[in-house]
Amino acid sequence: MGARAQMSEASIEMLERDDVLALQQGKLASLGKRLAGSREWRAHFARAGLKPEDLADRHALEAVPTLEKSDLRELYPFPFLTVPSDTVQRFFATSGTTGLPILFGFTERDVEVLLRGQVGRILRAVGIGPGDRVYQGYGYGTWIGGSALDEGIKAVGATNFPIGPGRGELAVRWVADHGYTGCSISPLWMMTLIDIARRQGMDPKRDWKLRVGVFGGQSVSKAFKDELEAALPDGFMAHNIYGTTEAGGPILGVSCPYSHERDEMHLINEDTVLTEIVDPDTLKPVSPGESGEIVITTLDKEASPVVRWRTRDLVRLSERPHDCPCGRKGYPLIGRIIGRTDDMLKVRGVILYPSQVEDIIAGTPGTAKEAWQIYIDREDRVLEEITVAVERRRNAELTADQIRESILRETHSRLGIRLNVECHDEGALPRYEAKAQRVHVRTGDNS
Ligand SMILES: [Zn+2]
Repeated sequence: MGARAQMSEASIEMLERDDVLALQQGKLASLGKRLAGSREWRAHFARAGLKPEDLADRHALEAVPTLEKSDLRELYPFPFLTVPSDTVQRFFATSGTTGLPILFGFTERDVEVLLRGQVGRILRAVGIGPGDRVYQGYGYGTWIGGSALDEGIKAVGATNFPIGPGRGELAVRWVADHGYTGCSISPLWMMTLIDIARRQGMDPKRDWKLRVGVFGGQSVSKAFKDELEAALPDGFMAHNIYGTTEAGGPILGVSCPYSHERDEMHLINEDTVLTEIVDPDTLKPVSPGESGEIVITTLDKEASPVVRWRTRDLVRLSERPHDCPCGRKGYPLIGRIIGRTDDMLKVRGVILYPSQVEDIIAGTPGTAKEAWQIYIDREDRVLEEITVAVERRRNAELTADQIRESILRETHSRLGIRLNVECHDEGALPRYEAKAQRVHVRTGDNS
């Protein structure tokens, strides 16, 4: 990339909010023109008495029907592809945790210009660039994580070690011997690697050179990040990143060195992906400081664009979304992902998100932050017992009983609910290389 292109990239990041909105407006109009050529999209807009060309007026966007999983499933196997299939360079798929994975096409430009630029911007925001050696620990295959990071690492001119998830014993050796300075990895897996390294007699704080990491695939609490940072070399910064396959990759949010301490992320690619944060029931935009669901519209993507895709991810809009000392005023700040509307548990009339339980576990001294589970026991359709299982670290000062008592007390006082708590020895519960499955339902007849 030449100096000219670098300059224009930097100036896009420093745009005022009004300029970002104007940029989005122009792109919405051309998106409308592109979608007008697709029978599927015309039918979708017609549900609200609109046509794709109406996007030329930004206010029309609020009237466009949102996109749900069921809309995509009806158009199986290539929903809203929007370009001739022979121009698709490759497909990525959603994880398909509920039902069949959904395939999203990417043209050559979608991968090599758009995605590369978006992930590159994320890596530059956390200070990864030429001279960095990056341990790329996200998975490959049809999952977009690993391939997306490959593009970003190319864009910033760093050196890629595309290891992917797993191979823990080898990985901890390589982190030391190869002198990696950056990493893109699941935070849970990094915690496990630290543990493996220590058991091999290594001290990650002293023996590793890591100074920055982007952590995605899973949203973790501030306490978890603090523990990671404390175990790694002095000055190491753990940055949360956030994205989805539907948005075109892990490209929506990242913290900057200034927002890191407040655990807030910039919606860093809002010039290419328009984000609404809305009340999940009324679909009206929330105000600063309020929580809502992220709804996205891809402005530049050629194959498989989405318009008002409901991510189901709940997030808090910052109290001061346009006020970061880094200068990215046009790119609002959001808190970490609170949970998915799909993950919401309703227990004896009380609404509960797994992330709330995680915050309590992470804040309890002596627990393993990466290993915990919620078990729901259904004896019949009515009665539900919830059990939280945690692990006590080998060297913890608190006893297993004290840990149990503390979590019982906190869940009761903070969440207003009485749960069962089990405290196991370190290593008893499952570890996850990527996304953790925290909630298990056990029914009376098969357990
Ligand atoms: Zn910032």
